[in-house]
Amino acid sequence: MYPIIAKRLNPAAVPGPQEITMASPQARSRAGWARNSTAWEKRSLRPDRAQSEQAGAKNQPRASRQIPKISPERAGRYQKSAQSEQADSTPAPPQLPSHAPYLLIGGGTASFAAARSIRARDPGAKVLIVTDEPDLPYMRPPLSKELWFSDDPSVTETLRFKQWNGKERSIYFQPPSFYIDPEHLTGAENGGVAVLVNKKVVHMDVRGNKVKLDDGTEISYEKCLIATGGVPRNLQVIERAGEEVMKRTSLFRKIEDFKSLENVSRKAESITIIGGGFLGSELACALGRKAAESGLEVVQMFPEKGNMGKVLPEYLSNWTTEKVKKEVFPDFSHRLSFSFSEGRSTAVGLEPNVDLAKSAGLEVDSDFGGYRVNAELQARSNIWVAGDAACFYDIRLGRRRVEHHDHAVVSGRLAGENMTGASKPYWHQSMFWSDLGPDVGYEAIGIVDSSLPTVGVFAKATAKDTPKAATEKSGTGIRSESETEDTAASPVASAAPAPAVENKDEYGKGVIFYLRDKVVVGIILWNVFNRMPIARKIIKDGEEHADLNEVAKLFNIHED
Ligand SMILES: Cc1cc2nc3c(=O)[nH]c(=O)nc-3n(C[C@H](O)[C@H](O)[C@H](O)COP(=O)(O)OP(=O)(O)OC[C@H]3O[C@@H](n4cnc5c(N)ncnc54)[C@H](O)[C@@H]3O)c2cc1C
Repeated sequence: MYPIIAKRLNPAAVPGPQEITMASPQARSRAGWARNSTAWEKRSLRPDRAQSEQAGAKNQPRASRQIPKISPERAGRYQKSAQSEQADSTPAPPQLPSHAPYLLIGGGTASFAAARSIRARDPGAKVLIVTDEPDLPYMRPPLSKELWFSDDPSVTETLRFKQWNGKERSIYFQPPSFYIDPEHLTGAENGGVAVLVNKKVVHMDVRGNKVKLDDGTEISYEKCLIATGGVPRNLQVIERAGEEVMKRTSLFRKIEDFKSLENVSRKAESITIIGGGFLGSELACALGRKAAESGLEVVQMFPEKGNMGKVLPEYLSNWTTEKVKKEVFPDFSHRLSFSFSEGRSTAVGLEPNVDLAKSAGLEVDSDFGGYRVNAELQARSNIWVAGDAACFYDIRLGRRRVEHHDHAVVSGRLAGENMTGASKPYWHQSMFWSDLGPDVGYEAIGIVDSSLPTVGVFAKATAKDTPKAATEKSGTGIRSESETEDTAASPVASAAPAPAVENKDEYGKGVIFYLRDKVVVGIILWNVFNRMPIARKIIKDGEEHADLNEVAKLFNIHED
């Protein structure tokens, strides 16, 4: 779920019958917030765990740690980036390549992962990424997490952040030097990856194997990837509330949204975050920290009964909400009634970007949204789709669409491989993660939907069972690096019988299995870290288990 940030939104402006859960730190004391935020800051600088790191962001050398803004001279060749637009009054007219062997539409995580895997399998490949953003490919997760915890006053410019383990890095996957200029792509002897920024693909001619950009330029391709991600949904109630409310509302997705919200958070008296999913909860934590410094009022509201209500089983969502309230909103202890006109549901989420479906004649899935592709992520003979925009056939779990970073990496990589002829099906399950406060973190895989039946097995957590401790132990924030199928080949079950949780309300750590037709289709590892390969294998095996307590023993949660 993606939140809408409504700046100083006045509840009275949107009357109606829907009740919303609100978390408000209205009566907090500055000291309380400062104390709380210090604890949160210490623990919440979470490294990016997902396989994204394999997409090339890891270990960026110090020398290359500049902001990947493009110089005015280079910007001309890159079609004038937004940063240089004013400074560069006479850019040389760029020569865009009229043909790209590999054309990737969208400059996000999936495209970048595809570019890397294409180059890995076809070292001389010429890859052209076209993005309507002004930036080179970057990862989005830090925009709602670590960047907010930076002490650097110029963080909105540097876009550098510290991981949980203290290591600093940039949100950009690669510095500008990694890419070649689009005008040099055609003649590049060893190929390379070029990025056309600030350019939107507006039309696809699938039979002619070419696309048209918003400036009328046509580019032909041999293989094309659509990785256009999605756009955050707005709430109808806000759209209808009029210009005043719309003006004070923003959706959160891009670097510019981070910059703009950061700016607003310095000036506004009150910010309301609508959404109780990952992003809403993370931003609430991040802005809550700001509140300690500035006196800003932060309100989080969502229609579910508790945080992560669409993912976590109800008892765990309730437990988590109490935990989040205590950690993030220490003075919150009440439910308020908030009303929306016409009693509409307030589901806020992402709308997969399928703008090209019409001109390309591609099928959009009526249930999940997104371009419908097969198990090899292929929509037509020369067209693949990856990331948030793909509705794909998972050979283990059926048709799906996933809006997570690691999926963008895994699917982008697979699409890239298949664009070079690998013909591989989607089988490597991506994971995702979230931290809901300093003491609660989880990693998940497969279909984790709170409407499915679940079985949870819990144990008492120790000080070792926090995201930060786990990261420090592994010495790297790149958790997925050790996540290969091999490491899960022979998990050893604990011999100890699973003790019952002493206090039924204590869900310190555990494993939650999500079932469909008695088969495990999703697993959450709740404050249990570095065991994703075991979960991945259980999903892959797809067997019925008579006693999931026995299966839970594979994770050794009672032995730590
Ligand atoms: C703030 C934030 C925090 C997140 N945190 C997490 C997290 O902690 N864990 C997690 O698993 N996931 C997280 N996600 C989700 C994750 O970032 C996305 O799933 C991932 O970015 C999807 O990658 P993508 O390449 O499919 O799409 P995107 O990253 O959205 O990239 C698509 C790109 O294509 C461009 N584009 C679209 N149409 C066109 C066109 N016609 N022509 C040219 N360019 C076009 C878009 O502008 C965009 O740049 C987060 C998302 C956000 C916004």
